[in-house]
Amino acid sequence: MARNLTEAEIREVVSQVLNQVSAAAPTASFDSTQYAGKKFVGVFDDMNDAIAAAQVAYKAVRAMSVEKREQLITEIRRLTRAEAHIMAEIGVKETGMGRVDHKTAKHMLVADKTPGTEDIVSAAKTGDNGLTLVEMAPFGVVGAITPSTNPSETVICNSIGMIAAGNGVVFNPHPNAIATSNYAVDLVNRASKAMGGPEILVCSMKKPTLESAAIMQSHPLIRLLVCTGGPGVVKAVLSSGKKAIGAGAGNPPVIVDDTADIAKAGKDIIDGCTFDNNLPCIAEKEVFAFRNIADELISVMLKNGAYMIDSAQAAKLADIVLVDKTDKKGNVRKIVNRDCVGRDAKVILSKLGITVSDDIRCIICETDFNHPFVQEELMMPILPIVRVNDIDEAIDLAVKAEHGNRHTAHMHSKNVDNLSRFAREVETTIFVKNAPSYAGIGFGGEGHATFTIAGPTGEGITSARSFTRQRRCVMAESFRII
Ligand code: NAD
Repeated sequence: MARNLTEAEIREVVSQVLNQVSAAAPTASFDSTQYAGKKFVGVFDDMNDAIAAAQVAYKAVRAMSVEKREQLITEIRRLTRAEAHIMAEIGVKETGMGRVDHKTAKHMLVADKTPGTEDIVSAAKTGDNGLTLVEMAPFGVVGAITPSTNPSETVICNSIGMIAAGNGVVFNPHPNAIATSNYAVDLVNRASKAMGGPEILVCSMKKPTLESAAIMQSHPLIRLLVCTGGPGVVKAVLSSGKKAIGAGAGNPPVIVDDTADIAKAGKDIIDGCTFDNNLPCIAEKEVFAFRNIADELISVMLKNGAYMIDSAQAAKLADIVLVDKTDKKGNVRKIVNRDCVGRDAKVILSKLGITVSDDIRCIICETDFNHPFVQEELMMPILPIVRVNDIDEAIDLAVKAEHGNRHTAHMHSKNVDNLSRFAREVETTIFVKNAPSYAGIGFGGEGHATFTIAGPTGEGITSARSFTRQRRCVMAESFRII
């Protein structure tokens, strides 16, 4: 006999339907070869053809004056600013992740603060034996693998730096963000053509796959691999036998001690954590707050768009945002549910049956250190807060939660000793003090921008010079003019 469903069962069914709808929505109407009826330039069916075209472009860039290269880059910047909103919209629609306003801001940052040819500086050494010149030369054709989280931002940022350094580039973008990535590839090529450069300056794939990435990784014309993504792909390129730059995963902890300006810390942390719905690898992922200021910190967060869930709700949410994956050896491990990555806090809360207003941008909860929200890189606006007794415990746990990625960490404090100690012990590529995480990539902080932060291979905040190889030219016994 039929029975009425309980409220919990109805919620479960609604949540499953919502999951299916949000999983089906992205990519549905996106074409990796054109936008609004205009065919993209530089998009190939076959990786070998893309590499051949990138080699032709490399020769053209090599033959170009530095001034000309800079003109092309200036036009890339102009088009990026003009079309930032379009790329932000396509990015959100295609991937289902992130926020249009923040993605627009990210493109503006790339246009304004990615270094160009000025980053390439020669060095000279003179002495009794004459003059030695060291120049930063291109590698040749760079094979670049890009993520779904900052797709067009990374394509444009990489293109500016790699072209400034005199290279050619072929991209194997993330399959879930291929239309957005190829829009950016086309933008770079339009900029080149407009300034009298090659029609195809950078290349990409119509349908990038692991196979096309493998061709790229073993192709003799590819002289440098630059990979921006999670641990799997960084491992793959570092095993390729070629020179590789790996920009991998992070899990940035934040420490808040009892000397911090708590009103500022709470707002900064929510601003950073929710930027593009937590997609940036540098974004705040877990907080370690001194016990004596934790309540005040949480109350500031609640006034700044946070919604607090209790431990039972956090346990239920963990089962939604993390799912089991069985590897080839039959081992089961938890991975993030792609349907939740980069989604609005409101959408994630709806999966718990909680309805909130659009002002809610972050889900916070108190957890212990071992909670999966602390341990996993969720890339969604969920922020666990762990109470700690003192700086020793805070640093110990924060360093462990960072998992040795040496990527990014944050701290809010006015105690210089505490700040210095954490920075020394966590050993991250980026360490942001008393600001939202995005200050670390030049957004409200000093320094240039990048969306390829190469911790594992050590190039750090990559720029044009990261994509060069040093060449030395020696003139013995001459050219010293003093
Ligand atoms: P992802 O690892 O799923 O994919 C990245 C790229 O690698 C994609 O183009 C994908 O197709 C490709 N790929 C995956 N496995 C591969 C393999 N075995 N061989 C060749 N190519 C492979 O990344 P994502 O989910 O789009 O991005 C999120 C991850 O990237 C997070 O871990 C984040 O921290 C990291 N990330 C790091 C940086 C940085 O600068 N360090 C920047 C952005 C993202």
